[in-house]
Amino acid sequence: MTKHAVVIAGGGPTGLMLAAELALARVDVAIVERRENQDVAGLRAGGLHSRTIEVLDQRGIADRFLSQGKVFQAAPFAQVTLDISDLPTRHNYYLGLWQERIERILADWASELLVPIYRGREVTGFAQDDSGVDVELSDGGSVRAKYLVGCDGGRSLIRKQAGIDFPGWDASTSYLIAEAETTEEPECGIRRGEKGIYALGKLEDGKRVRLVLSEQHFRQGDEPTLGDVREALIAVYGTDYGLHNATWISRFTDMTRQAAAYRDRSVLLAGDAAHVHSPVGGQGLNVGVQDAVNLGWKLAQVVNGTSPDSLLDTYHAERHPVGARVLKSTMAITALERGNARNDALRETVSELMQMDEPRKRYTARLSGLDIQYDLGSSHPLLGRRMPDLDLVTESGPQRVFTLLRAARPVLLNLGEPGVLDITPWADRVQLIDARCAGVWELPVLGAVTAPTAVLIRPDGHVAWTSDGTDQGLNDALTTWFGAPNLG
Ligand SMILES: Cc1cc2nc3c(=O)[nH]c(=O)nc-3n(C[C@H](O)[C@H](O)[C@H](O)COP(=O)(O)OP(=O)(O)OC[C@H]3O[C@@H](n4cnc5c(N)ncnc54)[C@H](O)[C@@H]3O)c2cc1C
Repeated sequence: MTKHAVVIAGGGPTGLMLAAELALARVDVAIVERRENQDVAGLRAGGLHSRTIEVLDQRGIADRFLSQGKVFQAAPFAQVTLDISDLPTRHNYYLGLWQERIERILADWASELLVPIYRGREVTGFAQDDSGVDVELSDGGSVRAKYLVGCDGGRSLIRKQAGIDFPGWDASTSYLIAEAETTEEPECGIRRGEKGIYALGKLEDGKRVRLVLSEQHFRQGDEPTLGDVREALIAVYGTDYGLHNATWISRFTDMTRQAAAYRDRSVLLAGDAAHVHSPVGGQGLNVGVQDAVNLGWKLAQVVNGTSPDSLLDTYHAERHPVGARVLKSTMAITALERGNARNDALRETVSELMQMDEPRKRYTARLSGLDIQYDLGSSHPLLGRRMPDLDLVTESGPQRVFTLLRAARPVLLNLGEPGVLDITPWADRVQLIDARCAGVWELPVLGAVTAPTAVLIRPDGHVAWTSDGTDQGLNDALTTWFGAPNLG
Protein backbone atom coordinates (compact mmCIF):
# COMPACT_ATOMS: atom_id res chain seq x y z
CA MET A 1 0.00 0.00 0.00
CA THR A 2 1.29 3.52 -0.87
CA LYS A 3 2.11 5.59 2.21
CA HIS A 4 2.29 9.32 2.82
CA ALA A 5 2.42 11.27 6.07
CA VAL A 6 -0.47 13.46 4.88
CA VAL A 7 -3.04 12.88 2.15
CA ILE A 8 -5.06 15.85 0.95
CA ALA A 9 -8.37 15.12 -0.77
CA GLY A 10 -8.86 17.85 -3.37
CA GLY A 11 -6.39 19.96 -5.32
CA GLY A 12 -8.33 23.21 -5.52
CA PRO A 13 -6.84 26.43 -4.11
CA THR A 14 -7.02 25.23 -0.48
CA GLY A 15 -5.52 21.78 -1.10
CA LEU A 16 -2.71 23.16 -3.27
CA MET A 17 -1.78 25.84 -0.73
CA LEU A 18 -1.81 23.33 2.12
CA ALA A 19 0.31 20.84 0.18
CA ALA A 20 2.90 23.52 -0.59
CA GLU A 21 3.03 24.61 3.07
CA LEU A 22 3.59 21.02 4.17
CA ALA A 23 6.21 20.43 1.47
CA LEU A 24 8.12 23.54 2.60
CA ALA A 25 8.31 21.88 6.03
CA ARG A 26 9.58 18.68 4.36
CA VAL A 27 6.45 16.68 5.09
CA ASP A 28 5.70 13.75 2.78
CA VAL A 29 2.36 14.97 1.40
CA ALA A 30 0.27 13.94 -1.62
CA ILE A 31 -2.90 15.30 -3.19
CA VAL A 32 -5.69 13.14 -4.61
CA GLU A 33 -7.64 15.18 -7.18
CA ARG A 34 -10.72 14.17 -9.13
CA ARG A 35 -9.98 16.45 -12.10
CA GLU A 36 -7.56 15.24 -14.78
CA ASN A 37 -5.96 18.71 -14.98
CA GLN A 38 -6.19 22.16 -13.39
CA ASP A 39 -8.95 23.44 -15.72
CA VAL A 40 -11.71 25.20 -13.78
CA ALA A 41 -15.27 25.08 -15.08
CA GLY A 42 -16.29 28.73 -15.45
CA LEU A 43 -14.53 31.63 -13.81
CA ARG A 44 -15.56 31.22 -10.14
CA ALA A 45 -13.40 33.37 -7.84
CA GLY A 46 -12.37 36.70 -9.27
CA GLY A 47 -9.36 37.60 -7.18
CA LEU A 48 -7.35 37.98 -4.02
CA HIS A 49 -7.82 40.24 -0.99
CA SER A 50 -4.91 41.95 0.78
CA ARG A 51 -4.23 39.34 3.46
CA THR A 52 -4.15 36.52 0.92
CA ILE A 53 -1.62 38.46 -1.16
CA GLU A 54 0.36 39.03 2.04
CA VAL A 55 0.51 35.30 2.87
CA LEU A 56 1.71 34.61 -0.67
CA ASP A 57 4.27 37.40 -0.23
CA GLN A 58 5.43 35.72 3.00
CA ARG A 59 6.37 32.72 0.85
CA GLY A 60 7.98 34.81 -1.89
CA ILE A 61 5.42 34.02 -4.60
CA ALA A 62 3.16 37.11 -4.59
CA ASP A 63 4.84 38.47 -7.75
CA ARG A 64 3.67 35.45 -9.74
CA PHE A 65 0.07 36.50 -9.08
CA LEU A 66 0.66 40.26 -9.32
CA SER A 67 2.23 39.91 -12.77
CA GLN A 68 -0.97 38.30 -14.11
CA GLY A 69 -3.65 40.23 -12.22
CA LYS A 70 -5.18 43.69 -12.20
CA VAL A 71 -5.02 45.95 -9.16
CA PHE A 72 -8.16 47.72 -7.80
CA GLN A 73 -7.89 50.11 -4.86
CA ALA A 74 -11.59 49.86 -4.14
CA ALA A 75 -14.03 47.42 -2.62
CA PRO A 76 -17.68 47.29 -3.65
CA PHE A 77 -20.25 47.48 -0.87
CA ALA A 78 -23.93 47.26 -1.87
CA GLN A 79 -24.33 50.27 -4.16
CA VAL A 80 -21.14 52.15 -3.30
CA THR A 81 -17.43 51.65 -3.78
CA LEU A 82 -15.17 51.97 -0.77
CA ASP A 83 -11.62 53.28 -0.97
CA ILE A 84 -9.06 50.77 0.32
CA SER A 85 -5.90 52.63 -0.64
CA ASP A 86 -5.23 53.56 3.01
CA LEU A 87 -5.12 49.96 4.29
CA PRO A 88 -1.79 49.83 6.13
CA THR A 89 -0.13 47.13 4.03
CA ARG A 90 2.18 47.03 1.02
CA HIS A 91 -0.73 45.30 -0.75
CA ASN A 92 -3.38 47.97 -0.26
CA TYR A 93 -5.55 46.70 -3.10
CA TYR A 94 -7.70 43.86 -4.39
CA LEU A 95 -6.02 41.82 -7.11
CA GLY A 96 -8.40 40.84 -9.90
CA LEU A 97 -7.35 37.37 -11.15
CA TRP A 98 -9.60 34.49 -12.17
CA GLN A 99 -9.57 31.29 -10.15
CA GLU A 100 -8.15 29.17 -12.96
CA ARG A 101 -5.03 31.35 -13.13
CA ILE A 102 -4.73 31.32 -9.33
CA GLU A 103 -4.96 27.53 -9.29
CA ARG A 104 -2.40 27.14 -12.08
CA ILE A 105 0.15 29.31 -10.27
CA LEU A 106 -0.41 27.37 -7.03
CA ALA A 107 -0.18 24.03 -8.87
CA ASP A 108 3.12 25.08 -10.50
CA TRP A 109 4.49 26.05 -7.09
CA ALA A 110 3.36 22.74 -5.54
CA SER A 111 5.00 20.92 -8.42
CA GLU A 112 8.30 22.83 -7.90
CA LEU A 113 8.12 21.62 -4.30
CA LEU A 114 7.71 18.07 -5.68
CA VAL A 115 4.23 17.43 -4.31
CA PRO A 116 2.77 14.33 -6.01
CA ILE A 117 -0.76 14.87 -7.32
CA TYR A 118 -2.76 11.71 -8.08
CA ARG A 119 -5.03 13.13 -10.75
CA GLY A 120 -8.19 11.69 -12.24
CA ARG A 121 -8.88 9.81 -9.00
CA GLU A 122 -11.32 10.38 -6.17
CA VAL A 123 -11.18 9.59 -2.51
CA THR A 124 -14.16 7.25 -2.11
CA GLY A 125 -13.90 6.49 1.60
CA PHE A 126 -11.58 6.12 4.56
CA ALA A 127 -11.20 4.33 7.86
CA GLN A 128 -9.48 5.82 10.90
CA ASP A 129 -7.60 3.83 13.53
CA ASP A 130 -5.31 4.82 16.41
CA SER A 131 -2.28 5.56 14.25
CA GLY A 132 -3.76 7.01 11.09
CA VAL A 133 -6.12 6.66 8.18
CA ASP A 134 -6.59 4.19 5.31
CA VAL A 135 -7.78 6.21 2.32
CA GLU A 136 -9.69 4.42 -0.46
CA LEU A 137 -9.38 5.62 -4.04
CA SER A 138 -11.74 5.31 -7.00
CA ASP A 139 -9.15 3.30 -9.00
CA GLY A 140 -9.38 0.53 -6.40
CA GLY A 141 -6.10 1.46 -4.73
CA SER A 142 -5.61 2.77 -1.23
CA VAL A 143 -3.16 5.03 0.59
CA ARG A 144 -2.09 4.93 4.22
CA ALA A 145 -1.60 8.31 5.91
CA LYS A 146 -1.09 9.71 9.40
CA TYR A 147 -3.51 12.50 8.58
CA LEU A 148 -6.18 13.05 5.94
CA VAL A 149 -7.26 16.60 5.13
CA GLY A 150 -10.55 17.19 3.33
CA CYS A 151 -10.02 20.11 0.93
CA ASP A 152 -12.68 18.57 -1.28
CA GLY A 153 -15.07 21.49 -1.58
CA GLY A 154 -18.57 22.26 -0.33
CA ARG A 155 -20.00 18.79 -0.94
CA SER A 156 -17.03 17.25 0.92
CA LEU A 157 -17.14 13.48 1.11
CA ILE A 158 -14.51 13.63 3.87
CA ARG A 159 -16.75 15.83 6.04
CA LYS A 160 -19.78 13.61 5.47
CA GLN A 161 -17.95 10.33 6.10
CA ALA A 162 -16.30 11.73 9.23
CA GLY A 163 -19.83 12.39 10.48
CA ILE A 164 -19.09 16.07 11.08
CA ASP A 165 -22.26 18.17 11.32
CA PHE A 166 -22.70 21.01 8.84
CA PRO A 167 -25.19 23.33 10.53
CA GLY A 168 -26.33 26.62 9.06
CA TRP A 169 -28.99 28.07 6.82
CA ASP A 170 -30.64 26.63 3.74
CA ALA A 171 -30.49 28.70 0.58
CA SER A 172 -33.01 31.52 0.23
CA THR A 173 -32.12 32.49 -3.34
CA SER A 174 -30.63 30.74 -6.35
CA TYR A 175 -28.67 32.42 -9.11
CA LEU A 176 -27.94 31.44 -12.67
CA ILE A 177 -24.41 32.20 -13.78
CA ALA A 178 -23.31 31.93 -17.39
CA GLU A 179 -20.69 33.00 -19.89
CA ALA A 180 -21.93 33.31 -23.47
CA GLU A 181 -21.93 35.45 -26.60
CA THR A 182 -24.70 37.88 -27.54
CA THR A 183 -25.81 39.21 -30.91
CA GLU A 184 -27.09 42.48 -29.43
CA GLU A 185 -25.16 44.85 -27.16
CA PRO A 186 -26.26 43.94 -23.58
CA GLU A 187 -27.00 46.42 -20.81
CA CYS A 188 -23.92 45.93 -18.64
CA GLY A 189 -24.05 46.79 -14.95
CA ILE A 190 -26.13 45.81 -11.95
CA ARG A 191 -29.89 45.81 -11.42
CA ARG A 192 -31.67 44.79 -8.25
CA GLY A 193 -34.83 42.76 -7.96
CA GLU A 194 -37.02 41.37 -5.20
CA LYS A 195 -34.79 38.28 -4.89
CA GLY A 196 -31.34 39.73 -5.45
CA ILE A 197 -29.10 41.15 -8.13
CA TYR A 198 -28.85 40.84 -11.90
CA ALA A 199 -25.38 41.60 -13.21
CA LEU A 200 -24.04 41.63 -16.76
CA GLY A 201 -20.42 42.36 -17.68
CA LYS A 202 -18.15 41.93 -20.69
CA LEU A 203 -15.34 39.40 -20.35
CA GLU A 204 -11.70 40.15 -21.22
CA ASP A 205 -12.06 38.83 -24.77
CA GLY A 206 -14.66 41.57 -25.43
CA LYS A 207 -16.90 38.99 -27.13
CA ARG A 208 -18.41 37.04 -24.28
CA VAL A 209 -20.61 38.27 -21.47
CA ARG A 210 -20.75 37.02 -17.89
CA LEU A 211 -24.25 36.99 -16.43
CA VAL A 212 -25.40 36.51 -12.85
CA LEU A 213 -29.20 36.42 -12.58
CA SER A 214 -31.16 35.82 -9.40
CA GLU A 215 -33.99 33.38 -10.11
CA GLN A 216 -37.64 34.23 -9.49
CA HIS A 217 -38.25 30.79 -8.02
CA PHE A 218 -35.61 29.12 -5.92
CA ARG A 219 -34.10 26.09 -7.67
CA GLN A 220 -31.15 23.86 -7.02
CA GLY A 221 -29.63 20.61 -8.18
CA ASP A 222 -30.59 20.23 -11.83
CA GLU A 223 -28.24 21.44 -14.56
CA PRO A 224 -29.50 24.77 -15.94
CA THR A 225 -29.73 25.19 -19.72
CA LEU A 226 -29.22 28.08 -22.14
CA GLY A 227 -33.01 28.22 -22.36
CA ASP A 228 -33.26 28.85 -18.59
CA VAL A 229 -30.77 31.72 -18.86
CA ARG A 230 -32.61 33.25 -21.85
CA GLU A 231 -35.90 33.02 -20.00
CA ALA A 232 -34.43 34.69 -16.90
CA LEU A 233 -32.95 37.48 -19.04
CA ILE A 234 -36.24 38.15 -20.84
CA ALA A 235 -38.10 38.28 -17.52
CA VAL A 236 -35.92 41.14 -16.30
CA TYR A 237 -34.52 42.90 -19.39
CA GLY A 238 -37.32 42.15 -21.85
CA THR A 239 -34.78 40.56 -24.26
CA ASP A 240 -32.24 37.75 -24.26
CA TYR A 241 -29.78 39.89 -26.31
CA GLY A 242 -29.47 36.97 -28.75
CA LEU A 243 -27.65 34.86 -26.19
CA HIS A 244 -25.81 31.90 -27.74
CA ASN A 245 -22.65 29.83 -27.67
CA ALA A 246 -22.50 29.46 -23.88
CA THR A 247 -19.13 28.27 -22.55
CA TRP A 248 -20.38 27.87 -19.00
CA ILE A 249 -23.78 27.70 -17.34
CA SER A 250 -24.20 26.94 -13.69
CA ARG A 251 -26.28 27.73 -10.67
CA PHE A 252 -25.21 28.80 -7.19
CA THR A 253 -27.13 29.64 -4.05
CA ASP A 254 -26.69 31.55 -0.82
CA MET A 255 -26.66 28.36 1.26
CA THR A 256 -24.64 29.18 4.36
CA ARG A 257 -23.17 26.38 6.45
CA GLN A 258 -20.11 25.68 8.56
CA ALA A 259 -18.62 22.44 9.83
CA ALA A 260 -19.28 22.08 13.56
CA ALA A 261 -15.71 20.79 14.00
CA TYR A 262 -12.70 21.29 11.73
CA ARG A 263 -11.12 18.12 13.12
CA ASP A 264 -12.10 14.58 13.99
CA ARG A 265 -8.95 12.82 15.31
CA SER A 266 -6.72 12.29 12.23
CA VAL A 267 -9.12 13.93 9.79
CA LEU A 268 -9.19 17.69 9.22
CA LEU A 269 -11.24 19.99 7.01
CA ALA A 270 -10.23 23.20 5.25
CA GLY A 271 -11.66 25.62 2.69
CA ASP A 272 -15.12 25.08 1.23
CA ALA A 273 -15.22 21.63 2.87
CA ALA A 274 -15.42 23.52 6.18
CA HIS A 275 -17.60 26.47 5.17
CA VAL A 276 -19.93 27.46 2.34
CA HIS A 277 -21.67 30.76 1.74
CA SER A 278 -22.78 33.13 -0.99
CA PRO A 279 -19.92 34.37 -3.24
CA VAL A 280 -20.79 38.02 -2.50
CA GLY A 281 -17.75 39.85 -1.17
CA GLY A 282 -15.45 37.39 -2.94
CA GLN A 283 -14.27 35.64 0.20
CA GLY A 284 -14.40 31.85 -0.24
CA LEU A 285 -11.11 31.15 -1.98
CA ASN A 286 -9.34 33.68 0.22
CA VAL A 287 -10.54 32.13 3.47
CA GLY A 288 -9.61 28.65 2.20
CA VAL A 289 -6.04 29.69 1.34
CA GLN A 290 -5.72 31.28 4.78
CA ASP A 291 -7.13 28.15 6.49
CA ALA A 292 -4.35 26.24 4.75
CA VAL A 293 -1.66 28.63 5.97
CA ASN A 294 -2.95 28.34 9.55
CA LEU A 295 -3.06 24.54 9.41
CA GLY A 296 0.08 23.80 7.38
CA TRP A 297 2.86 24.56 9.87
CA LYS A 298 0.90 23.06 12.78
CA LEU A 299 0.29 19.81 10.97
CA ALA A 300 3.94 19.75 9.85
CA GLN A 301 5.18 20.12 13.42
CA VAL A 302 2.87 17.36 14.65
CA VAL A 303 3.87 15.01 11.82
CA ASN A 304 7.57 15.79 12.37
CA GLY A 305 7.20 15.04 16.10
CA THR A 306 8.08 18.58 17.21
CA SER A 307 4.70 19.34 18.76
CA PRO A 308 1.99 17.26 20.41
CA ASP A 309 -1.15 16.34 18.51
CA SER A 310 -3.10 18.85 20.63
CA LEU A 311 -1.55 21.72 18.62
CA LEU A 312 -4.02 20.76 15.89
CA ASP A 313 -6.94 21.76 18.13
CA THR A 314 -5.77 25.37 17.86
CA TYR A 315 -6.60 25.16 14.13
CA HIS A 316 -10.32 24.85 14.87
CA ALA A 317 -10.10 27.33 17.76
CA GLU A 318 -8.55 29.98 15.51
CA ARG A 319 -10.15 29.41 12.13
CA HIS A 320 -13.73 28.48 13.07
CA PRO A 321 -14.50 32.00 14.40
CA VAL A 322 -12.97 33.52 11.24
CA GLY A 323 -15.20 31.32 9.06
CA ALA A 324 -18.26 32.17 11.20
CA ARG A 325 -17.60 35.87 10.73
CA VAL A 326 -17.38 35.46 6.95
CA LEU A 327 -20.69 33.57 6.94
CA LYS A 328 -22.33 36.40 8.85
CA SER A 329 -21.03 39.16 6.58
CA THR A 330 -22.03 37.34 3.38
CA MET A 331 -25.54 36.82 4.78
CA ALA A 332 -25.74 40.52 5.61
CA ILE A 333 -24.64 41.59 2.12
CA THR A 334 -27.04 39.11 0.47
CA ALA A 335 -29.91 40.58 2.49
CA LEU A 336 -28.90 44.11 1.50
CA GLU A 337 -28.77 43.19 -2.20
CA ARG A 338 -32.52 42.46 -2.39
CA GLY A 339 -34.50 45.15 -4.10
CA ASN A 340 -37.78 46.20 -2.53
CA ALA A 341 -38.65 49.62 -1.11
CA ARG A 342 -37.70 48.75 2.46
CA ASN A 343 -34.45 47.05 1.48
CA ASP A 344 -33.61 49.92 -0.85
CA ALA A 345 -33.97 52.28 2.09
CA LEU A 346 -31.86 50.04 4.32
CA ARG A 347 -29.15 49.66 1.65
CA GLU A 348 -29.01 53.39 1.00
CA THR A 349 -28.76 54.14 4.73
CA VAL A 350 -26.06 51.54 5.40
CA SER A 351 -24.13 52.51 2.25
CA GLU A 352 -24.11 56.12 3.41
CA LEU A 353 -22.83 55.15 6.85
CA MET A 354 -20.26 52.83 5.34
CA GLN A 355 -18.62 55.70 3.48
CA MET A 356 -17.80 57.40 6.79
CA ASP A 357 -14.18 56.92 7.71
CA GLU A 358 -14.43 54.68 10.79
CA PRO A 359 -17.03 52.18 9.46
CA ARG A 360 -15.24 52.08 6.09
CA LYS A 361 -11.92 51.29 7.76
CA ARG A 362 -13.45 48.57 9.93
CA TYR A 363 -15.35 46.94 7.09
CA THR A 364 -12.46 46.98 4.60
CA ALA A 365 -10.01 45.69 7.24
CA ARG A 366 -12.41 42.80 7.78
CA LEU A 367 -13.04 42.11 4.09
CA SER A 368 -9.32 42.19 3.33
CA GLY A 369 -8.61 39.72 6.17
CA LEU A 370 -6.07 42.14 7.67
CA ASP A 371 -7.88 42.61 10.98
CA ILE A 372 -7.92 38.94 12.01
CA GLN A 373 -6.80 38.48 15.61
CA TYR A 374 -6.46 35.04 17.15
CA ASP A 375 -6.99 34.84 20.90
CA LEU A 376 -3.35 34.80 22.05
CA GLY A 377 -3.56 37.28 24.91
CA SER A 378 -4.09 41.00 25.30
CA SER A 379 -0.88 42.40 26.79
CA HIS A 380 0.00 44.00 23.44
CA PRO A 381 -2.34 44.81 20.50
CA LEU A 382 -0.09 42.82 18.14
CA LEU A 383 -0.73 39.53 19.94
CA GLY A 384 -2.62 37.15 17.65
CA ARG A 385 -2.60 39.65 14.77
CA ARG A 386 -0.61 39.45 11.59
CA MET A 387 2.87 40.90 11.78
CA PRO A 388 3.19 44.01 9.58
CA ASP A 389 5.77 43.77 6.81
CA LEU A 390 8.18 46.36 8.22
CA ASP A 391 11.55 47.34 6.78
CA LEU A 392 14.40 46.02 8.93
CA VAL A 393 18.12 46.44 9.03
CA THR A 394 19.78 43.14 9.92
CA GLU A 395 23.41 41.98 10.06
CA SER A 396 23.08 40.88 6.45
CA GLY A 397 21.63 44.20 5.30
CA PRO A 398 18.14 45.61 4.71
CA GLN A 399 15.32 43.03 4.79
CA ARG A 400 11.53 43.02 4.89
CA VAL A 401 9.87 41.04 7.68
CA PHE A 402 8.01 38.88 5.14
CA THR A 403 11.25 37.74 3.48
CA LEU A 404 12.21 36.16 6.82
CA LEU A 405 9.10 33.94 6.60
CA ARG A 406 9.85 32.46 3.16
CA ALA A 407 10.86 29.05 4.52
CA ALA A 408 7.65 28.87 6.63
CA ARG A 409 9.72 28.71 9.83
CA PRO A 410 9.09 30.70 13.02
CA VAL A 411 11.10 33.87 13.64
CA LEU A 412 12.08 35.57 16.88
CA LEU A 413 12.84 39.14 15.91
CA ASN A 414 14.97 40.93 18.47
CA LEU A 415 14.74 44.69 18.00
CA GLY A 416 16.41 45.53 21.30
CA GLU A 417 20.03 45.10 22.32
CA PRO A 418 21.58 42.41 20.10
CA GLY A 419 22.38 39.10 21.76
CA VAL A 420 20.19 39.52 24.87
CA LEU A 421 17.69 36.79 23.95
CA ASP A 422 18.80 33.19 24.28
CA ILE A 423 16.69 30.49 22.66
CA THR A 424 19.35 27.79 22.36
CA PRO A 425 16.89 24.95 23.27
CA TRP A 426 14.71 25.95 20.27
CA ALA A 427 17.54 26.98 17.92
CA ASP A 428 16.86 23.95 15.70
CA ARG A 429 13.33 25.26 14.98
CA VAL A 430 13.22 29.02 15.49
CA GLN A 431 15.33 31.60 13.66
CA LEU A 432 16.62 34.35 15.97
CA ILE A 433 17.23 37.57 14.06
CA ASP A 434 18.71 40.71 15.59
CA ALA A 435 17.49 43.75 13.71
CA ARG A 436 16.75 47.43 13.87
CA CYS A 437 13.44 48.88 12.77
CA ALA A 438 12.72 52.58 12.45
CA GLY A 439 9.25 52.28 10.91
CA VAL A 440 5.86 52.98 12.46
CA TRP A 441 3.96 49.88 13.62
CA GLU A 442 0.60 50.66 12.10
CA LEU A 443 -2.24 48.16 12.37
CA PRO A 444 -5.54 48.21 10.46
CA VAL A 445 -8.29 50.06 12.35
CA LEU A 446 -6.11 50.53 15.47
CA GLY A 447 -3.52 52.81 13.86
CA ALA A 448 -0.01 53.15 15.31
CA VAL A 449 0.85 50.87 18.26
CA THR A 450 3.84 50.87 20.60
CA ALA A 451 6.81 49.10 19.03
CA PRO A 452 7.76 45.98 20.99
CA THR A 453 11.45 45.28 21.69
CA ALA A 454 11.06 41.72 20.41
CA VAL A 455 8.38 39.76 18.63
CA LEU A 456 7.87 36.01 18.11
CA ILE A 457 6.29 35.38 14.69
CA ARG A 458 4.64 32.09 13.78
CA PRO A 459 5.15 30.67 10.27
CA ASP A 460 1.67 31.92 9.31
CA GLY A 461 2.80 35.48 10.10
CA HIS A 462 0.77 35.87 13.31
CA VAL A 463 2.41 37.23 16.46
CA ALA A 464 2.68 34.74 19.34
CA TRP A 465 4.63 36.83 21.86
CA THR A 466 5.87 40.39 22.28
CA SER A 467 8.49 41.82 24.63
CA ASP A 468 8.41 45.02 26.62
CA GLY A 469 12.13 44.75 27.30
CA THR A 470 12.27 41.44 29.17
CA ASP A 471 12.02 37.80 28.10
CA GLN A 472 9.10 37.12 30.43
CA GLY A 473 6.77 34.51 28.92
CA LEU A 474 9.09 33.75 25.99
CA ASN A 475 9.89 30.16 26.95
CA ASP A 476 6.19 29.40 27.51
CA ALA A 477 5.27 30.84 24.11
CA LEU A 478 8.07 28.90 22.40
CA THR A 479 6.94 25.66 24.07
CA THR A 480 3.25 26.24 23.30
CA TRP A 481 3.80 26.95 19.64
CA PHE A 482 7.05 25.23 18.70
CA GLY A 483 7.33 22.28 21.07
CA ALA A 484 9.30 21.34 24.16
CA PRO A 485 12.88 22.65 24.54
CA ASN A 486 15.65 20.48 23.18
CA LEU A 487 17.80 20.00 26.28
CA GLY A 488 20.04 17.33 24.75
C1 LIG B 1 -19.90 31.62 -9.00
C2 LIG B 1 -18.84 31.65 -7.96
C3 LIG B 1 -18.14 32.81 -7.74
C4 LIG B 1 -17.16 32.86 -6.75
N1 LIG B 1 -16.49 34.03 -6.54
C5 LIG B 1 -15.52 34.07 -5.59
C6 LIG B 1 -14.73 35.23 -5.42
O1 LIG B 1 -14.89 36.23 -6.11
N2 LIG B 1 -13.75 35.20 -4.48
C7 LIG B 1 -13.51 34.11 -3.71
O2 LIG B 1 -12.59 34.15 -2.86
N3 LIG B 1 -14.25 33.00 -3.86
C8 LIG B 1 -15.23 32.94 -4.78
N4 LIG B 1 -15.94 31.81 -4.97
C9 LIG B 1 -15.69 30.68 -4.08
C10 LIG B 1 -14.46 29.89 -4.49
O3 LIG B 1 -14.61 29.43 -5.81
C11 LIG B 1 -14.31 28.72 -3.51
O4 LIG B 1 -14.41 29.22 -2.19
C12 LIG B 1 -12.96 28.04 -3.68
O5 LIG B 1 -12.89 27.38 -4.91
C13 LIG B 1 -12.76 27.01 -2.56
O6 LIG B 1 -11.57 26.33 -2.76
P1 LIG B 1 -11.40 24.86 -2.19
O7 LIG B 1 -10.06 24.42 -2.66
O8 LIG B 1 -11.67 24.86 -0.74
O9 LIG B 1 -12.54 24.01 -2.86
P2 LIG B 1 -12.79 23.71 -4.41
O10 LIG B 1 -12.30 24.82 -5.25
O11 LIG B 1 -14.21 23.30 -4.53
O12 LIG B 1 -11.84 22.48 -4.70
C14 LIG B 1 -12.16 21.19 -4.26
C15 LIG B 1 -11.37 20.22 -5.11
O13 LIG B 1 -11.58 18.91 -4.63
C16 LIG B 1 -11.81 18.03 -5.73
N5 LIG B 1 -12.60 16.93 -5.18
C17 LIG B 1 -13.87 16.95 -4.71
N6 LIG B 1 -14.21 15.76 -4.19
C18 LIG B 1 -13.13 14.97 -4.31
C19 LIG B 1 -12.85 13.63 -3.92
N7 LIG B 1 -13.76 12.87 -3.29
N8 LIG B 1 -11.63 13.13 -4.19
C20 LIG B 1 -10.68 13.88 -4.83
N9 LIG B 1 -10.91 15.16 -5.21
C21 LIG B 1 -12.09 15.70 -4.94
C22 LIG B 1 -12.51 18.88 -6.77
O14 LIG B 1 -12.33 18.37 -8.06
C23 LIG B 1 -11.82 20.23 -6.57
O15 LIG B 1 -10.67 20.37 -7.37
C24 LIG B 1 -16.91 31.72 -5.96
C25 LIG B 1 -17.61 30.54 -6.19
C26 LIG B 1 -18.57 30.51 -7.19
C27 LIG B 1 -19.32 29.23 -7.42
